[in-house]
Amino acid sequence: MTEHIAFIGLGHMGLPMAINLARAGYTVTGFDLMPAALAQAGDNGVSVASSAAAAAKKADVIITMLPAGRHVLAAYEGEAGLLAAARPNSLFIDCSTISVEDARSAHELITAAGHRGLDAPVSGGVVGAAAGTLTFMVGGNDAEFATAKPVLEAMGKRLVHCGTPGAGQAAKVCNNMILAVSMIAVSEGFVLGEQLGLSHQALFDVAANATGQCWALTTNCPVPGPVATSPANRGYQPGFATALMAKDLGLAAHALESTGVHARLGAMAEEIYRHFAEGEGAQQDFSAIINDIRANSKTKEAV
Ligand code: NAD
Repeated sequence: MTEHIAFIGLGHMGLPMAINLARAGYTVTGFDLMPAALAQAGDNGVSVASSAAAAAKKADVIITMLPAGRHVLAAYEGEAGLLAAARPNSLFIDCSTISVEDARSAHELITAAGHRGLDAPVSGGVVGAAAGTLTFMVGGNDAEFATAKPVLEAMGKRLVHCGTPGAGQAAKVCNNMILAVSMIAVSEGFVLGEQLGLSHQALFDVAANATGQCWALTTNCPVPGPVATSPANRGYQPGFATALMAKDLGLAAHALESTGVHARLGAMAEEIYRHFAEGEGAQQDFSAIINDIRANSKTKEAV
């Protein structure tokens, strides 16, 4: 039974996830490079270690929640790395969003070092992390999934076992590519509707109950008004920041290239969000792409 958990990466997502594990009764030892993150963890029931390796030494399960694949692989490898420090047959769960290739490389390193591993990226953002309502997309073997289940359930409300190692990251990258394309499509629809004299509410009432229905429209509507809780009603404060969407689309573009899939809209969405993330859009919710579409349209003032 899992008792001791090491949690490496106590950032926007990792800190509330680690706190939820401590609240669920696990002994959690955390590590982050940022002293402020360690202090916050210490104030909220998470023991603090002096290094990642020190956190891993006594753990049954080692969770990483780091920015990108290179951070995860670097944290695992080397004499002072997590794989060398952990007890034999420890379970490594990487919740970071990284490429499928990096996830598979990580899994090979884990098993070669005599441990077990899962990729378990999340959706639900910082709100879901704090509320313990994340969705986990899990790649790995059945036995490891069964061991991880109660641990992940302490941080999330939905677990989907997607398949073998890397399948969790594969599901995440495909979902976010769909999301980006659908947000751009919904935003283009609203800007065209404005120019054709349609009110936002009228288009919403039709599309939300017709074949244009999707999450980007009915939950994260890019115009203020129709969906009271969408970021458009609070100046496009995220939500899901454009910079993170651009990062995920970079992974999607890489996956498209490595598989040879001819996904014109996915590739275009990557380009659109990459440009938008270079400017002030980076820290706005990704639905603010509607303002970029308006700004680049040769049209009269919106109705
Ligand atoms: P973040 O930058 O807030 O946190 C990452 C943390 O990792 C930082 O505190 C950093 O100091 C720490 N770190 C980096 N290298 C380290 C190392 N070697 N050892 C210990 N700590 C180290 O990022 P975040 O928003 O928490 O996102 C984490 C991951 O989750 C990313 O892969 C991101 O794509 C993914 N994700 C984020 C969201 C979101 O809404 N923020 C949603 C879903 C998935």
